[in-house]
Amino acid sequence: MITRNALIWLSRQEGLKDLATRFGYFKKLTTRFVAGDTLNDTIPRIRQFNAENCTASFDHLNEAVGSADEAEQEVAEYLNILAKIDEERIRSNVSIKLTQFGLALDPELAYRNARRVVEEAHRRGNFVRVDMEDSSATQATIDIFKRLRSEFDLNTVGIVLQSYLYRTFADAQELINLPARIRICKGAYNEPAEVAFPDKKDVDANYVKVMQLLLSSGIYHGVATHDPKMIDATIDFATREGIGKEKYEFQMLYGVRRDLQHQLARNGFNMRIYVPYGKHWYPYFMRRLAERPANIWFVLKNLAKG
Ligand SMILES: Cc1cc2nc3c(=O)[nH]c(=O)nc-3n(C[C@H](O)[C@H](O)[C@H](O)COP(=O)(O)OP(=O)(O)OC[C@H]3O[C@@H](n4cnc5c(N)ncnc54)[C@H](O)[C@@H]3O)c2cc1C
Repeated sequence: MITRNALIWLSRQEGLKDLATRFGYFKKLTTRFVAGDTLNDTIPRIRQFNAENCTASFDHLNEAVGSADEAEQEVAEYLNILAKIDEERIRSNVSIKLTQFGLALDPELAYRNARRVVEEAHRRGNFVRVDMEDSSATQATIDIFKRLRSEFDLNTVGIVLQSYLYRTFADAQELINLPARIRICKGAYNEPAEVAFPDKKDVDANYVKVMQLLLSSGIYHGVATHDPKMIDATIDFATREGIGKEKYEFQMLYGVRRDLQHQLARNGFNMRIYVPYGKHWYPYFMRRLAERPANIWFVLKNLAKG
Protein backbone atom coordinates (compact mmCIF):
# COMPACT_ATOMS: atom_id res chain seq x y z
CA MET A 1 0.00 0.00 0.00
CA ILE A 2 1.32 3.43 -0.91
CA THR A 3 2.27 5.30 2.24
CA ARG A 4 1.81 8.86 3.46
CA ASN A 5 5.56 9.45 3.22
CA ALA A 6 5.68 8.24 -0.39
CA LEU A 7 2.82 10.55 -1.36
CA ILE A 8 4.48 13.53 0.31
CA TRP A 9 7.74 12.66 -1.46
CA LEU A 10 5.86 12.57 -4.77
CA SER A 11 4.30 15.96 -3.97
CA ARG A 12 7.79 17.49 -4.06
CA GLN A 13 8.81 16.12 -7.47
CA GLU A 14 8.99 19.13 -9.77
CA GLY A 15 9.02 16.98 -12.94
CA LEU A 16 5.74 15.34 -12.02
CA LYS A 17 4.30 18.71 -11.05
CA ASP A 18 4.79 19.96 -14.62
CA LEU A 19 3.57 16.75 -16.20
CA ALA A 20 0.45 16.63 -14.07
CA THR A 21 -0.27 20.31 -14.64
CA ARG A 22 -0.09 19.94 -18.43
CA PHE A 23 -2.38 16.91 -18.50
CA GLY A 24 -5.96 18.17 -18.61
CA TYR A 25 -7.10 14.64 -17.78
CA PHE A 26 -5.49 14.65 -14.32
CA LYS A 27 -6.87 18.06 -13.56
CA LYS A 28 -10.43 16.71 -13.60
CA LEU A 29 -9.54 14.57 -10.58
CA THR A 30 -8.57 17.54 -8.50
CA THR A 31 -11.98 19.18 -8.48
CA ARG A 32 -12.85 17.70 -5.10
CA PHE A 33 -10.03 19.65 -3.42
CA VAL A 34 -9.39 22.56 -5.81
CA ALA A 35 -12.17 25.07 -6.43
CA GLY A 36 -11.19 26.13 -9.95
CA ASP A 37 -8.49 27.32 -12.31
CA THR A 38 -9.13 31.02 -11.97
CA LEU A 39 -10.30 33.54 -9.43
CA ASN A 40 -13.55 33.98 -11.33
CA ASP A 41 -14.24 30.22 -11.21
CA THR A 42 -13.87 30.36 -7.45
CA ILE A 43 -16.17 33.29 -6.59
CA PRO A 44 -19.47 31.34 -6.93
CA ARG A 45 -18.14 28.65 -4.57
CA ILE A 46 -17.32 31.24 -1.94
CA ARG A 47 -20.68 32.90 -2.44
CA GLN A 48 -22.27 29.53 -1.76
CA PHE A 49 -20.23 29.06 1.44
CA ASN A 50 -21.24 32.53 2.60
CA ALA A 51 -24.90 31.62 1.98
CA GLU A 52 -24.35 28.58 4.22
CA ASN A 53 -22.98 30.81 7.01
CA CYS A 54 -19.34 29.97 6.33
CA THR A 55 -16.56 32.44 5.64
CA ALA A 56 -13.58 31.57 3.43
CA SER A 57 -9.88 32.05 2.88
CA PHE A 58 -8.56 32.23 -0.68
CA ASP A 59 -5.38 30.34 -1.50
CA HIS A 60 -3.83 30.92 -4.92
CA LEU A 61 -1.95 27.68 -5.51
CA ASN A 62 1.71 28.10 -6.26
CA GLU A 63 4.56 27.36 -3.88
CA ALA A 64 8.34 27.53 -4.12
CA VAL A 65 8.36 29.89 -7.11
CA GLY A 66 11.51 29.78 -9.23
CA SER A 67 12.06 33.48 -9.98
CA ALA A 68 11.41 37.01 -8.76
CA ASP A 69 9.13 37.51 -11.79
CA GLU A 70 6.99 34.56 -10.80
CA ALA A 71 6.78 35.91 -7.24
CA GLU A 72 5.71 39.27 -8.66
CA GLN A 73 2.85 37.57 -10.50
CA GLU A 74 1.75 36.02 -7.21
CA VAL A 75 1.67 39.44 -5.54
CA ALA A 76 -0.42 40.78 -8.44
CA GLU A 77 -2.83 37.83 -8.10
CA TYR A 78 -3.30 38.47 -4.37
CA LEU A 79 -3.86 42.21 -4.87
CA ASN A 80 -6.47 41.23 -7.39
CA ILE A 81 -8.11 38.77 -4.97
CA LEU A 82 -8.37 41.45 -2.29
CA ALA A 83 -9.98 43.86 -4.77
CA LYS A 84 -12.38 41.17 -5.97
CA ILE A 85 -13.47 40.29 -2.43
CA ASP A 86 -14.60 43.90 -1.97
CA GLU A 87 -16.10 44.23 -5.44
CA GLU A 88 -18.12 41.01 -5.08
CA ARG A 89 -18.92 41.69 -1.41
CA ILE A 90 -17.97 38.19 -0.35
CA ARG A 91 -16.83 37.28 3.15
CA SER A 92 -13.31 35.98 2.74
CA ASN A 93 -9.73 36.71 3.71
CA VAL A 94 -6.55 35.36 2.04
CA SER A 95 -3.89 32.78 2.89
CA ILE A 96 -0.39 33.15 1.49
CA LYS A 97 2.77 31.04 1.43
CA LEU A 98 6.09 32.81 1.76
CA THR A 99 7.82 30.48 -0.73
CA GLN A 100 5.20 31.73 -3.17
CA PHE A 101 6.65 35.21 -2.68
CA GLY A 102 10.27 34.09 -3.09
CA LEU A 103 11.37 32.88 0.37
CA ALA A 104 13.73 30.28 -1.09
CA LEU A 105 15.27 32.85 -3.45
CA ASP A 106 15.75 35.67 -0.96
CA PRO A 107 13.95 36.13 2.40
CA GLU A 108 14.08 39.93 1.97
CA LEU A 109 12.21 39.63 -1.34
CA ALA A 110 9.58 37.42 0.32
CA TYR A 111 9.17 39.96 3.13
CA ARG A 112 8.77 42.89 0.71
CA ASN A 113 6.27 40.96 -1.41
CA ALA A 114 4.24 39.78 1.58
CA ARG A 115 4.29 43.30 2.96
CA ARG A 116 2.64 44.65 -0.19
CA VAL A 117 -0.22 42.20 0.17
CA VAL A 118 -0.58 42.84 3.92
CA GLU A 119 -0.56 46.61 3.32
CA GLU A 120 -3.33 46.27 0.75
CA ALA A 121 -5.34 44.05 3.12
CA HIS A 122 -4.89 46.70 5.82
CA ARG A 123 -6.12 49.43 3.46
CA ARG A 124 -9.20 47.36 2.71
CA GLY A 125 -9.85 46.21 6.28
CA ASN A 126 -9.10 42.58 5.37
CA PHE A 127 -6.78 39.94 6.83
CA VAL A 128 -3.80 37.91 5.57
CA ARG A 129 -2.93 34.53 7.05
CA VAL A 130 0.66 33.38 6.53
CA ASP A 131 0.52 29.60 6.00
CA MET A 132 3.26 27.43 7.52
CA GLU A 133 5.35 25.27 5.20
CA ASP A 134 7.94 22.57 5.91
CA SER A 135 10.32 22.88 8.85
CA SER A 136 13.16 24.31 6.75
CA ALA A 137 10.99 27.45 6.47
CA THR A 138 9.56 27.63 10.01
CA GLN A 139 12.00 30.10 11.56
CA ALA A 140 12.15 32.34 8.49
CA THR A 141 8.34 32.38 8.32
CA ILE A 142 8.04 33.35 11.99
CA ASP A 143 10.72 36.04 11.60
CA ILE A 144 9.00 37.61 8.61
CA PHE A 145 5.63 37.35 10.32
CA LYS A 146 6.99 39.17 13.39
CA ARG A 147 8.28 41.99 11.19
CA LEU A 148 4.91 42.29 9.50
CA ARG A 149 3.10 42.13 12.81
CA SER A 150 5.28 44.94 14.19
CA GLU A 151 4.09 47.12 11.29
CA PHE A 152 0.43 46.08 11.08
CA ASP A 153 -2.21 45.42 13.70
CA LEU A 154 -3.47 42.15 15.15
CA ASN A 155 -6.46 42.01 12.82
CA THR A 156 -4.47 42.47 9.60
CA VAL A 157 -1.97 39.62 9.66
CA GLY A 158 -1.83 36.20 11.36
CA ILE A 159 0.22 33.02 11.19
CA VAL A 160 -0.09 29.22 11.28
CA LEU A 161 1.56 26.77 13.70
CA GLN A 162 1.73 22.97 13.36
CA SER A 163 1.20 20.70 16.37
CA TYR A 164 3.52 17.99 14.98
CA LEU A 165 6.59 20.20 15.67
CA TYR A 166 8.21 19.97 19.10
CA ARG A 167 8.87 23.71 19.06
CA THR A 168 5.23 24.73 18.53
CA PHE A 169 4.04 25.12 22.11
CA ALA A 170 6.94 27.52 22.83
CA ASP A 171 6.28 29.38 19.54
CA ALA A 172 2.60 29.72 20.47
CA GLN A 173 3.52 31.14 23.89
CA GLU A 174 5.86 33.66 22.32
CA LEU A 175 3.47 34.69 19.55
CA ILE A 176 0.39 35.17 21.72
CA ASN A 177 2.45 37.62 23.76
CA LEU A 178 2.91 39.87 20.68
CA PRO A 179 -0.14 39.36 20.51
CA ALA A 180 -0.86 37.38 17.32
CA ARG A 181 -3.74 35.53 15.73
CA ILE A 182 -2.77 31.91 15.15
CA ARG A 183 -4.24 29.07 13.11
CA ILE A 184 -3.34 25.78 14.76
CA CYS A 185 -3.21 22.72 12.48
CA LYS A 186 -1.51 19.31 12.79
CA GLY A 187 0.96 19.85 9.92
CA ALA A 188 0.98 18.45 6.39
CA TYR A 189 4.65 17.84 5.52
CA ASN A 190 7.06 14.96 5.99
CA GLU A 191 9.21 15.85 8.97
CA PRO A 192 12.06 13.90 10.62
CA ALA A 193 11.87 12.73 14.25
CA GLU A 194 14.50 15.35 15.15
CA VAL A 195 11.91 18.10 14.75
CA ALA A 196 8.45 16.49 14.85
CA PHE A 197 6.53 13.91 16.89
CA PRO A 198 6.60 10.65 14.92
CA ASP A 199 3.44 9.32 16.65
CA LYS A 200 -0.01 10.60 15.78
CA LYS A 201 -1.13 10.37 19.41
CA ASP A 202 1.59 12.84 20.43
CA VAL A 203 0.67 15.19 17.56
CA ASP A 204 -2.94 15.07 18.76
CA ALA A 205 -2.01 15.60 22.42
CA ASN A 206 0.11 18.61 21.47
CA TYR A 207 -2.75 19.93 19.31
CA VAL A 208 -5.06 19.91 22.33
CA LYS A 209 -2.42 21.54 24.53
CA VAL A 210 -1.78 24.35 22.02
CA MET A 211 -5.51 24.79 21.32
CA GLN A 212 -6.16 25.28 25.06
CA LEU A 213 -3.35 27.83 25.30
CA LEU A 214 -4.75 29.73 22.31
CA LEU A 215 -8.36 29.74 23.48
CA SER A 216 -7.32 30.88 26.96
CA SER A 217 -5.47 33.90 25.48
CA GLY A 218 -8.66 35.79 24.64
CA ILE A 219 -7.35 36.42 21.08
CA TYR A 220 -9.43 35.32 18.08
CA HIS A 221 -7.67 32.18 16.74
CA GLY A 222 -8.41 29.53 14.10
CA VAL A 223 -8.79 25.86 15.04
CA ALA A 224 -8.04 24.07 11.75
CA THR A 225 -8.91 20.39 11.71
CA HIS A 226 -11.33 17.78 10.35
CA ASP A 227 -10.70 15.50 13.29
CA PRO A 228 -13.88 15.06 15.36
CA LYS A 229 -11.72 14.35 18.45
CA MET A 230 -9.97 17.72 18.12
CA ILE A 231 -13.28 19.48 17.46
CA ASP A 232 -14.93 17.88 20.51
CA ALA A 233 -11.89 18.71 22.66
CA THR A 234 -12.17 22.35 21.54
CA ILE A 235 -15.90 22.61 22.21
CA ASP A 236 -15.57 20.85 25.59
CA PHE A 237 -12.72 23.11 26.69
CA ALA A 238 -14.49 26.29 25.54
CA THR A 239 -17.69 25.24 27.32
CA ARG A 240 -15.82 24.42 30.54
CA GLU A 241 -13.95 27.71 30.49
CA GLY A 242 -16.97 29.82 29.51
CA ILE A 243 -15.37 30.83 26.18
CA GLY A 244 -18.14 31.86 23.76
CA LYS A 245 -18.50 30.53 20.20
CA GLU A 246 -17.76 34.01 18.85
CA LYS A 247 -14.25 34.00 20.37
CA TYR A 248 -12.68 31.55 17.89
CA GLU A 249 -13.36 29.87 14.55
CA PHE A 250 -13.10 26.38 13.14
CA GLN A 251 -11.38 26.05 9.78
CA MET A 252 -11.52 23.21 7.25
CA LEU A 253 -10.26 22.57 3.75
CA TYR A 254 -12.40 22.84 0.64
CA GLY A 255 -13.85 19.40 -0.16
CA VAL A 256 -12.96 17.74 3.16
CA ARG A 257 -15.71 16.72 5.62
CA ARG A 258 -18.38 18.93 4.09
CA ASP A 259 -20.91 17.27 6.40
CA LEU A 260 -19.00 18.45 9.45
CA GLN A 261 -18.54 21.94 7.99
CA HIS A 262 -22.32 22.27 7.57
CA GLN A 263 -23.07 20.79 10.96
CA LEU A 264 -20.77 23.19 12.82
CA ALA A 265 -22.06 26.22 10.89
CA ARG A 266 -25.67 25.16 11.54
CA ASN A 267 -24.87 24.84 15.24
CA GLY A 268 -23.71 28.45 15.36
CA PHE A 269 -19.93 27.96 15.31
CA ASN A 270 -17.78 30.27 13.21
CA MET A 271 -16.65 28.15 10.27
CA ARG A 272 -14.09 29.17 7.65
CA ILE A 273 -13.33 27.17 4.52
CA TYR A 274 -9.84 27.29 3.01
CA VAL A 275 -10.43 27.53 -0.74
CA PRO A 276 -7.49 26.82 -3.07
CA TYR A 277 -7.58 27.56 -6.79
CA GLY A 278 -5.15 27.83 -9.66
CA LYS A 279 -3.25 25.63 -12.06
CA HIS A 280 -0.32 24.73 -9.76
CA TRP A 281 -2.43 22.24 -7.85
CA TYR A 282 -0.04 19.29 -7.84
CA PRO A 283 1.79 19.55 -4.44
CA TYR A 284 -1.38 20.66 -2.62
CA PHE A 285 -3.41 17.82 -4.14
CA MET A 286 -0.76 15.22 -3.27
CA ARG A 287 -0.67 16.38 0.36
CA ARG A 288 -4.44 15.90 0.53
CA LEU A 289 -4.05 12.34 -0.74
CA ALA A 290 -1.28 11.76 1.81
CA GLU A 291 -3.54 12.83 4.68
CA ARG A 292 -5.99 10.13 3.82
CA PRO A 293 -4.65 7.43 1.50
CA ALA A 294 -8.28 6.21 1.12
CA ASN A 295 -8.66 9.26 -1.15
CA ILE A 296 -6.57 7.38 -3.70
CA TRP A 297 -9.55 5.07 -4.25
CA PHE A 298 -11.68 8.08 -4.93
CA VAL A 299 -9.14 9.22 -7.54
CA LEU A 300 -8.77 5.77 -9.10
CA LYS A 301 -12.56 5.37 -9.34
CA ASN A 302 -12.76 8.65 -11.22
CA LEU A 303 -9.86 7.69 -13.48
CA ALA A 304 -11.67 4.47 -14.33
CA LYS A 305 -14.84 6.42 -15.16
CA GLY A 306 -12.75 8.45 -17.64
C1 LIG B 1 -7.97 25.49 7.11
C2 LIG B 1 -6.72 24.66 7.10
C3 LIG B 1 -5.51 25.26 6.85
C4 LIG B 1 -4.33 24.52 6.89
N1 LIG B 1 -3.12 25.15 6.74
C5 LIG B 1 -1.97 24.43 6.87
C6 LIG B 1 -0.70 25.07 6.89
O1 LIG B 1 -0.56 26.29 6.77
N2 LIG B 1 0.40 24.27 7.03
C7 LIG B 1 0.31 22.91 7.16
O2 LIG B 1 1.34 22.24 7.32
N3 LIG B 1 -0.89 22.29 7.13
C8 LIG B 1 -2.02 23.01 7.00
N4 LIG B 1 -3.24 22.36 7.02
C9 LIG B 1 -3.29 20.89 6.92
C10 LIG B 1 -3.19 20.23 8.28
O3 LIG B 1 -1.92 20.42 8.82
C11 LIG B 1 -3.48 18.71 8.21
O4 LIG B 1 -2.59 18.11 7.33
C12 LIG B 1 -4.88 18.40 7.76
O5 LIG B 1 -5.81 19.31 8.24
C13 LIG B 1 -5.29 16.98 8.27
O6 LIG B 1 -5.28 16.98 9.67
P1 LIG B 1 -6.62 16.87 10.54
O7 LIG B 1 -6.51 17.84 11.66
O8 LIG B 1 -7.80 17.04 9.69
O9 LIG B 1 -6.54 15.46 11.24
P2 LIG B 1 -6.27 13.98 10.69
O10 LIG B 1 -6.01 13.17 11.90
O11 LIG B 1 -5.25 13.99 9.59
O12 LIG B 1 -7.65 13.61 10.06
C14 LIG B 1 -8.83 13.46 10.84
C15 LIG B 1 -9.97 13.03 9.95
O13 LIG B 1 -10.27 14.10 9.03
C16 LIG B 1 -10.58 13.58 7.74
N5 LIG B 1 -9.55 14.06 6.78
C17 LIG B 1 -8.40 14.67 7.07
N6 LIG B 1 -7.74 15.00 5.94
C18 LIG B 1 -8.49 14.56 4.92
C19 LIG B 1 -8.36 14.59 3.50
N7 LIG B 1 -7.32 15.13 2.89
N8 LIG B 1 -9.36 14.01 2.76
C20 LIG B 1 -10.44 13.46 3.35
N9 LIG B 1 -10.61 13.40 4.69
C21 LIG B 1 -9.66 13.94 5.45
C22 LIG B 1 -10.59 12.09 7.87
O14 LIG B 1 -11.90 11.70 8.20
C23 LIG B 1 -9.65 11.84 9.03
O15 LIG B 1 -9.89 10.63 9.68
C24 LIG B 1 -4.40 23.10 7.08
C25 LIG B 1 -5.63 22.50 7.33
C26 LIG B 1 -6.76 23.25 7.37
C27 LIG B 1 -8.05 22.58 7.70
